Amino acid sequence: MHFDLFVIGGGSAGVRCARIAAGHGARVGVAESRFWGGTCVNIGCVPKKFLVMAAEYGAIAEDARGFGWDVETRAHDWSALLAAKDQEIARLNGIYRRLLDNAGATIFDARASFIDAHTLDVGGQRVTADKIVIATGGHPTGLDIPGAEHAIVSDDAFFLPEMPKRVAIVGSGYIAVEFAGVFAGLGAETHLIYRQPLPLRGFDEDIRAALAGTLAGNGVTLHPGTLPSAITLSGGAKQVALSNGETLAVDLVFFATGRAANTRGLNLADAGVHTGPRGEVLVDSAFCTSVPHIYALGDVTDRLNLTPVATAQGHALADTLFGNRPRGVNLDNVPTAVFSIPPIATVGLTEEEAAKRGEVTIFLSRFTPMRHTLTGRERKTLMKMVVDRATDKVLGAHMLGEDAPEIIQGLAVAITAGATKADFDRTIGIHPTAAEEFVTMRTQTRVAGPGLGGE
Ligand code: FAD
Ligand code: NDP
Repeated sequence: MHFDLFVIGGGSAGVRCARIAAGHGARVGVAESRFWGGTCVNIGCVPKKFLVMAAEYGAIAEDARGFGWDVETRAHDWSALLAAKDQEIARLNGIYRRLLDNAGATIFDARASFIDAHTLDVGGQRVTADKIVIATGGHPTGLDIPGAEHAIVSDDAFFLPEMPKRVAIVGSGYIAVEFAGVFAGLGAETHLIYRQPLPLRGFDEDIRAALAGTLAGNGVTLHPGTLPSAITLSGGAKQVALSNGETLAVDLVFFATGRAANTRGLNLADAGVHTGPRGEVLVDSAFCTSVPHIYALGDVTDRLNLTPVATAQGHALADTLFGNRPRGVNLDNVPTAVFSIPPIATVGLTEEEAAKRGEVTIFLSRFTPMRHTLTGRERKTLMKMVVDRATDKVLGAHMLGEDAPEIIQGLAVAITAGATKADFDRTIGIHPTAAEEFVTMRTQTRVAGPGLGGE
């Protein structure tokens, strides 16, 4: 049981790294303790997007009336949705396992931990390797308040036996905002409790403000600047006491308050691997930990916790170690989306980040999407570009509106390639689309920069 490479964790980063390394001819072992494909496939991106799509269908069915369809919507069947979701995920699990098998990797359905820097205990078996990759991901963390045991986290949300009628979600990051859309879209009374004035700290301020409006428009009750202080059970409901003195009676309390690296039980200290203050494995730009032949990838390093980043890192490390193609992964201009309803997508710098570095011109457009001129639904799209005044380079593009992730993915190529606003301006649009607005925005909204503020 000696390998050239042993990968701990069969998620986005680990599977990619193991598969590509085996393809390069390395003798690879890989261990997964729970489910192949990891968080993204089983309790993350994929099932989440199915739930979001399910929530969107209700509104789409209503909207169809504006186009002459005589549609009647009856109750939503939560268990039918979960069964369909589970079936697809079981198929994906199989695909991930087969990918590794076909590449010639040795698969262990087991938990792995370090014995020393070259030796692992893999489900009771002793295994050695020249190089070891830690790709164990992360787990949701809740709040330490009285009654916290009555709350769920995102891992549980995908397996709820029934759809709750009243939900309180704590937090306003990716998961909180996405699940607020899911529960509200499926008909629950939904509360979002968060400590910031606006949701999605770190996103562009115009997008954050527009999102707050959209959430409220979708029927979500917003509790900004608020923290939960305790959860008690009473009269068949969960009573959530809030820092503003209010109490909410709900059926489900959902902590969406961040994630922490899966490093417990790995015995990292026995291998000499250093971790940071949040338990994350510390790595350099070549994914190297404090021990030169031990590497770490993806969420366990807690940098940019997104699947395409994890897979890109896994691929780059395998190519570096066994493919004679050394490279890292540039984390500038990583596009990202929040699958709210409608979604948000963004690439590059926010206005606030860019304005700290130099003078920028802001182009901003708000409009009613063509579809909703007939549906009558009150839903605006927001598009925004942040342009460097000195070089004309587009530093950031942000959108809240239908198809935003599909549109921004294309713009991310242009921005990664260093496109200027003039390049956008000479690009011909596709008509009639929302996307064409990004190549027809001509009137600057404002100039921002150090000392200039945003206006
Ligand atoms: P993981 O996918 O978590 O894989 C780690 C694996 O290691 C797990 O399968 C775990 O069981 C296994 N493991 C842990 N310890 C051991 C051990 N000791 N021995 C053996 N195996 C072990 N990202 C996006 O880009 N888009 C999205 O839409 C998106 N939606 C998300 C929604 C939710 C609800 C969540 C929670 C996350 C979402 N993410 C999304 C983030 C994305 O899922 C992660 O960034 C990605 O899965 C990280 O991949 P990873 O390989 O680092 O870790
Ligand atoms: P985030 O880090 O995005 O958000 C955490 C939220 O919890 C923030 O609103 C934060 O508030 C709040 N919070 C944290 N600690 C406390 C506290 N002690 N009291 C009150 N509020 C608190 O984490 P998520 O759990 O939403 O998601 C984890 C990560 O998973 C994301 O950052 C992202 O990388 C990934 N992900 C990606 C998705 C996608 O690509 N679409 C979807 C889902 C997850 P504050 O802002 O004030 O700190």
